[in-house]
Amino acid sequence: MTEDLTKKAAEMLLKGATLLSEPCPYCKGVRVMKQGQALCISCGRQPEKKEIPKQSQTEETSPSIEKTLEKKMEILTKELENEKDHEKQQNILKTINSLLETMGKLKKKQ
Ligand SMILES: [Zn+2]
Repeated sequence: MTEDLTKKAAEMLLKGATLLSEPCPYCKGVRVMKQGQALCISCGRQPEKKEIPKQSQTEETSPSIEKTLEKKMEILTKELENEKDHEKQQNILKTINSLLETMGKLKKKQ
């Protein structure tokens, strides 16, 4: 089940979704958001559409592993967008999947 969610999240990211900096209110999982719809990749809940990613980020923390992962995710998403080779697309998708998994684990620790 979780794998499906991860796939769905990866697909959403491909279509221009962004990662939410705020964790899921239900399970603290990583969420992706597209057109005002947030999807939690841990529990699969899609809360109300009102959620708008906040611009004001807390800058007090030094570059964290999470930020690094988020940046990597951005790069990968762009790479995937431009990649025409199917095999390479698969590889990028795999990396995205494991990134999402890692991020999920990190959030759960908090
Ligand atoms: Zn959740």
